[in-house]
Amino acid sequence: MQFIDLQKQYLALKDKIDSRIEKVLSKANFIGGEEVGELSAKLAKYCGTEYCLTCANGTDALTLALRCFNVGRGDAVFVPDFTFFASAETPALEGATCVFVDVEERTFNLDADKLEEAVKETISDGKLTPKAIIAVDLFGLPANYIKIRKVADKYGLPIIEDGAQGFGGSIGGKKACSFGDISTTSFFPAKPLGCYGDGGAVFTDNKDYYDLMCSLAVHGKGTFKYDNVRIGYNSRLDTVQAAVLLEKLDAFEKYEYAARNDIAKRYTQLLGGKFVTPLIPENFGSSWAQYTLILNSGEERTHIQESLKKKNIPTMVYYPKPMHKQTAFSDLPDRSGKLQVSSKLSDTVLSIPMHPYLTAEEVEYIAKSLLEI
Ligand SMILES: *Cc1c(COP(=O)(O)O)cnc(C)c1O
Repeated sequence: MQFIDLQKQYLALKDKIDSRIEKVLSKANFIGGEEVGELSAKLAKYCGTEYCLTCANGTDALTLALRCFNVGRGDAVFVPDFTFFASAETPALEGATCVFVDVEERTFNLDADKLEEAVKETISDGKLTPKAIIAVDLFGLPANYIKIRKVADKYGLPIIEDGAQGFGGSIGGKKACSFGDISTTSFFPAKPLGCYGDGGAVFTDNKDYYDLMCSLAVHGKGTFKYDNVRIGYNSRLDTVQAAVLLEKLDAFEKYEYAARNDIAKRYTQLLGGKFVTPLIPENFGSSWAQYTLILNSGEERTHIQESLKKKNIPTMVYYPKPMHKQTAFSDLPDRSGKLQVSSKLSDTVLSIPMHPYLTAEEVEYIAKSLLEI
C-alpha cells in the first residue's frame, strides 16, 4: 500500500494525460505554451479570484507574494509555528523576522487570538515593524480567515494565504486560495492538486500585485523580456506541467475532491470516539491533503507506526519539529512558552494514507488495524 498513490492516479488518467503531453511535445512549445494560459484562467475561475499566475513552485509563490508587500529587514512576519518550513523560510530569506504563532489544537491552523497577542507583543516591544501575516491551510483545511481577517484589519496587516495544501478547501462555499490579499499554492506531486515535477501559483484580486508578480517571475521584466526594471527571479511553470495539471484539475473537480471527502468521512466513522480525529468546523470544507490523528504520546505514536508498518500500512509524521525548534531559527528570541500546542502536536500527530484512489477495503483494513493495536 502507498501513502499517496500517484501511480494509481496516473493509470486512471493515463490516456488523457499522455495525449496532453504528446501535444506539447509535438508543438515543442515547452515554455509559455498555450496550456499555461489556459490553466491559469481555469485556476482563477475555480478559486474565484480575478487573477492567477502560475510559477515554478509553492515556495517561489510565497516569495513573489512577500515581495508585493516589501517585506524585508526590520519587519515582523507572523507565521504559524506548525507548518512546512517554506512558510517561514521565505520571509526569513527576504530578511524579515518570523514571529511564530501557536495553532488551534483541533484544526492544526493559526490561532487568531494568539495571533493578536503576538502582534500586540511585537508592537509593544518596538523592535520590529509588523508587516504581514502568513496563514497556512494545513492538511487541506482553510485557516479561520473570518477571525484572522479581523485581526489583520485591526492592525492594517495584509494576509498571505499559504494554500500549498489547501487547494480545493472552502469556507461557506468560498474556495481556498481566495482568502489572502495574495494567496499561494503548490503543485508538488503529493499535494491535493499535484503535477509531475515542481509547480506553484499565486492568486489575487489586485491588479497591481498581479502585474508586479508577473514581472518578478520573469527576471523583473518591464515592457518586454530584455527590459529589466527590477531584480526578479526565473519562476515559470513549464508547459508540460500545465498540460498535466489541466487533466488533473478536471479529475479533481469532477470526482477526486469528493473521493477524498468520502474516504475521510469513512475514516472518521470508523475511528471517531477511539482516536482524536480531525475536526472540520461547520461551513468549512477540506481537500484532505492529509488525514491526521492526534495520539496520546510520542511512545504510543512510535508503537502504532511500527505495528502498522508490519501490516504494510505506511504512515507519516507531519511535522515532527515545529518552526521554533528548527536549528535554522535558533537565533530567534525564545517564545517556546507560547507555542505549547504546536510542540504537543509535533510529538503526537500521525498521518495515515490519504489519496482519492484508496479503495473501501483499504480504508477498512487501515481502520481495523488501528483499532486492533
Ligand atoms: C509544500 C508546501 C510549500 C512549498 O511548496 P513547494 O512547491 O514544495 O515549494 C509551502 N507551504 C506549505 C504549507 C507546503 O505544504
